[in-house]
Amino acid sequence: MADRIGFIGLGIMGKPMAWNVMEAGYDLVVYNRTREKAEEISGDGATVADSPREVAEGSDVVITMLPDSPDVWEVVSGENGVLEGIEEGALLVDMSTISPVVTRELAEEAEGRGASMLDAPVSGGDVGAQEGTLSIMVGGGEEDFERARPLFEVMGQTITHVGPSGAGQTAKAANQIVVALTIEAVSEALVLGSKAGAAPEKILEALSGGLAGSKVMEAKREKFLSHTFDPGFRVELHHKDLGIALAAGREYGVPLPVTAIVDQMLGSLKVKGKGDKDHSTILTLIEEGAQHRIGEGV
Ligand code: NAD
Repeated sequence: MADRIGFIGLGIMGKPMAWNVMEAGYDLVVYNRTREKAEEISGDGATVADSPREVAEGSDVVITMLPDSPDVWEVVSGENGVLEGIEEGALLVDMSTISPVVTRELAEEAEGRGASMLDAPVSGGDVGAQEGTLSIMVGGGEEDFERARPLFEVMGQTITHVGPSGAGQTAKAANQIVVALTIEAVSEALVLGSKAGAAPEKILEALSGGLAGSKVMEAKREKFLSHTFDPGFRVELHHKDLGIALAAGREYGVPLPVTAIVDQMLGSLKVKGKGDKDHSTILTLIEEGAQHRIGEGV
């Protein structure tokens, strides 16, 4: 397996993922638009590069963990981008959540440069990134997948080769539908139960043991109950992800009616200035509709 790894995008997810790669003994070179974030990790042994191009030069594998499709496009294909510096035979692994269409276009560009690309978006949040227990959904060639597997095993626990280029992103879109709609459903359940007189923690306790129980309910429990909505996973990122899911639904002729409603709810939270809050803040929209804050007067 390759020993020099480039890592671009050291945010909530990228920083702990890069850290785990470094801890596993790989030689790491990093780049982030805000340089201080890259310098935080350089103190621990990584080299800081001045551009994505410089990261790619001399790296066997380049990993990107950026917010959205235009960011990945710019970093990979733009001026001083990864593809300007990528070595022949090197592997680009984009772990951001972006459009499957953009993914396939970039994979073709990488091929044109004698390199290859995997899409490998993740699920499991900041805690999964820190603990190295992410679920990683991979699209691309079998050989490239096997080549990257040891790296994936450092960052994640459930590693699935879903299919060809773009398939990882499609699986991630499916994941985001389930997570968003579940948060919305739990929010409705909590507000109804609470306004009708039941304690929110008791509602969660009762539901958790039955068919309605879910990882979402478990992971967001404290945020719901304490109304502390620091991220975690930001509203604006989930809004982006449902946009990707709706566009895929349109392309493939799959109506996604409830996804569309929750997409509008996330858009409304952004307008209210809550784009940088955790997605569990969907609860506050339901509370507003009911004019009831859960746990009050119960
Ligand atoms: P983030 O905003 O915290 O991190 C993104 C990082 O990329 C930042 O450090 C930013 O400075 C850097 N960046 C942005 N544009 C850049 C550019 N042009 N060049 C170099 N660096 C640039 O976001 P995040 O929460 O870490 O999410 C990253 C990706 O992972 C997103 O696609 C998101 O949807 C996905 N994701 C996030 C979570 C989560 O819980 N936060 C979970 C699963 C998947």
